[in-house]
Amino acid sequence: MTAIETTNLTKQYGERTALDEFNLEIEHGEIFGFLGPNGAGKSTTIDIFLDFIRPTDGRAIVADHNPQDSPLEVRQNIGVLPDDYSLYDSLTGSEHIELAKDLNGSDEDTNALLSRVGLADAGDQPTGNYSKGMAQRLAFGMALVGDPDVLILDEPSTGIDPNGVQDIRELIREEAASGTTIFFSTHILEQVEAICDRVAIINEGELVAVDTISGLRETF
Ligand code: ADP
Ligand code: ADP
Repeated sequence: MTAIETTNLTKQYGERTALDEFNLEIEHGEIFGFLGPNGAGKSTTIDIFLDFIRPTDGRAIVADHNPQDSPLEVRQNIGVLPDDYSLYDSLTGSEHIELAKDLNGSDEDTNALLSRVGLADAGDQPTGNYSKGMAQRLAFGMALVGDPDVLILDEPSTGIDPNGVQDIRELIREEAASGTTIFFSTHILEQVEAICDRVAIINEGELVAVDTISGLRETF
């Protein structure tokens, strides 16, 4: 059973081919890097996983469901840390987790979730007081609500100091160790080198390579 599978996944925007018969297989519990320059097709792929857009041809299976046929099931089993997440400055960390729980229909323990992302002592503070690193850890915690099978990270760690980057890496490793599949999309090679088990390189909607980091080093 695979966590994520795409078969000849194709997306056209008019004349422009954003994804060109894209094939990928990701196993459960992998930290999988999705590496490509701007415009490569990463957001398009993620948007198809979430059924925000539909493929022109081919299909995706995420957490055992086709997003196009079962969008609610897929969204229930996926957590997303978007690149453009935003927090409400006047609401506390706890209130953000509560919001995510309401949306997810989950009743897990808010403080336990805050502890998991290192914010046990900051839950009562409005997020307007948070550093960028704390804000991203909170967004990560919100993505973990509902205990997703697959966690999608879209360009994480941009604009965060080195300590904050280390914190997020540690959280990612912990999640993967507990069986969550991590789909880590980025244009920064160093990020995937630091943490990913395997990496797919995408360019102009085509798969250039899929390999382990050491395998890629031998090839390139
Ligand atoms: P990435 O996330 O890797 O930066 P995208 O998936 O956003 O890449 O974009 C892939 C290609 O599809 C790019 O050439 C982009 O300009 C194009 N594209 C993305 N969204 C649209 C859209 N809504 N309409 C037209 N072209 C689009
Ligand atoms: P990212 O780098 O995160 O993929 P983009 O800047 O490529 O973000 O895209 C931001 C938004 O603009 C997306 O909703 C995408 O679909 C849309 N978009 C990207 N390229 C084009 C394009 N060439 N024409 C129309 N919309 C586009």
